[in-house]
Amino acid sequence: MNRRLTLALPSKGRLREPSWSLLEATGVAPQEPGERVLQTFCRNADIDLLFVRADDVPEYVQDGVVDCGITGLDLVSERDFEVDVLLRLGYGTCSLQAAVSTEDVAEELGQLNGRRIATSHPRIVGNWLERNGLSADIVRVSGSVEITPRLGLADAIVDLVSTGSTLRTNGLRSLGTIFESEAVLVGRRGASDHEAQNTLTMLLASVINARATRYLLFNIAKDRLDEVTALLPTTGSPTVMDLATPGTVAVHALVPASQIWSLLPQLQARGASSVLTLPVERMVP
Ligand code: AMP
Repeated sequence: MNRRLTLALPSKGRLREPSWSLLEATGVAPQEPGERVLQTFCRNADIDLLFVRADDVPEYVQDGVVDCGITGLDLVSERDFEVDVLLRLGYGTCSLQAAVSTEDVAEELGQLNGRRIATSHPRIVGNWLERNGLSADIVRVSGSVEITPRLGLADAIVDLVSTGSTLRTNGLRSLGTIFESEAVLVGRRGASDHEAQNTLTMLLASVINARATRYLLFNIAKDRLDEVTALLPTTGSPTVMDLATPGTVAVHALVPASQIWSLLPQLQARGASSVLTLPVERMVP
């Protein structure tokens, strides 16, 4: 049965903009909401959009207020919501890291045993301690976690880190990562037959795959074809076409964007010419 889908998007904070632009890139044409408007819809698909805080998204999905939503994986795991993670979205990446004061003797995560740890993620920290056979006093705080060692409230902290600059500014040193997070699409448990939700998941995945890929084209002498195709970091088979100039072919291939930088000089060194790289809009395997 094809019924309308309600998708919750983060209404503010660091996940808002990338979530909106990812949705726009799928082609469902979300209608820009007016100021302070919390609901809108998509012009090209049967999708209604609701703007809520990223923290509230897992609960809204679990309780059936919406069908699915975008939020941080840390927010889903911290309160153990009954939702399915449908897709990892590749932005909002950060890690929950344990840190101590730069003067502390601890050098590794195991040395947190028996100490006091301040965090706003007590559940994730508790599970991690248990899995690693450690015990520690967890001090729950809801903000400004980094200041707690200096106030004598804790010996260590566990907090979200993306660049590490906040830790350094507060005289803290990371001991390591206990949890990796990124933005995720979550859906209600057992709703795998929702057609519109499956289509949306597929479209989002196609954009995420495409963003990490480039379409590469170049010309090469036929007698060097094997040598250059062996260099291509592509899983599929490249397309090879004869050119009007005898003994020369054009090669087209999809390659990971992250490898273009190292690949182009190697192709050039082997005589490739007219080398082009193009962005890919969508990629459905
Ligand atoms: P916000 O609404 O800006 O507070 O976003 C919170 C979510 O963004 C967190 O739950 C994480 O999933 C994600 N995030 C990504 N990088 C960071 C970071 N450096 N600090 C906190 N949250 C982050």
